[in-house]
Amino acid sequence: MKDRDLYIGVDIGGTHMRTALIDGYGNIHKHQKVQTDIAKGAVQTSARLVNQCSRLVNEALENQRKVESIGLGVAGKVDHLGGRVIFSPNLPHLNGYPLAVELEQHLQVPVFIENDANLFGIGEHWLGAGRHIDNWIGVTLGTGVGGCLILNGGLWNGDDLGYMGEIGHTIVDPHGPWCVCGLKGCLEAHSSGRALMEGVEGAVSEKELNSGRLYDLCTTGELTPEQVYQSARRGNATANRMFERMGWALGLAIANLFTFLGIRHAIIGGGVSASWELFIAPLHKSLAKHSCMLDESSMVIVKGLLGDNAALLGAARLAQNRIHGRGQT
Ligand SMILES: [Zn+2]
Repeated sequence: MKDRDLYIGVDIGGTHMRTALIDGYGNIHKHQKVQTDIAKGAVQTSARLVNQCSRLVNEALENQRKVESIGLGVAGKVDHLGGRVIFSPNLPHLNGYPLAVELEQHLQVPVFIENDANLFGIGEHWLGAGRHIDNWIGVTLGTGVGGCLILNGGLWNGDDLGYMGEIGHTIVDPHGPWCVCGLKGCLEAHSSGRALMEGVEGAVSEKELNSGRLYDLCTTGELTPEQVYQSARRGNATANRMFERMGWALGLAIANLFTFLGIRHAIIGGGVSASWELFIAPLHKSLAKHSCMLDESSMVIVKGLLGDNAALLGAARLAQNRIHGRGQT
């Protein structure tokens, strides 16, 4: 790595596409955020992505610097070698689309595609809460629930099937609510932003909730995870029940993995982790209840340190390591 080399990190989520020009030390030189606008289809998303990245390549050139490579983070299952999104529940229009290939062809810069939760792991491992921990589980709480596993100081890739660490689609209650993946009772169906909203909608349709602000928001279609959070903070019992359920499910899923892997650290990030104070107590209670190998005090659950930038920084780190042939983290 030369001191002046630059990389582009990209994080494409269900609502926003974020791109940033980042150096080899993790300094963000320029950051851009635009709507993903999934309704306009994959070709439009790809064109917007090319446009955003071109600006950053030009910005680097104006400063006599060069973008060496691009790390592209997408929620879902990805084909690393083929540069394709295989399946993305939250970005269904990108299913099968060769997003990384198109970007590489347009910009003539190498592009490496990776799942966004894995990039969260690479980012936090590089510069955040996982810096000095060799073995940990990463969980990202957003519209869905993502996950990753750092083992022996590196990202675990499994059999390179295009996914790994998908804690969100491990089942915590076979009789629980339906998940977007088609299964019943996944962690994601209990602990995601979508699950918070669907839980409240369920309470309305069961007539357990039939008045008040939360009810009004639900019936007018204006409900958001943020509104569920605000209602819980104001003491609404239904909203609080959703956060208790979220913590219970996270504790159970993490306890199973701690027991299986013989590790004891988990790092939680993603936008919905901002509601930390509402789910962390039920999470710890559930963790203790579902662990027989470890005592409660030795299990460490911490919040990610990099906030919104974790996956972007992870994408830049992946781009940097791949182009210099240093593995993934
Ligand atoms: Zn699922």
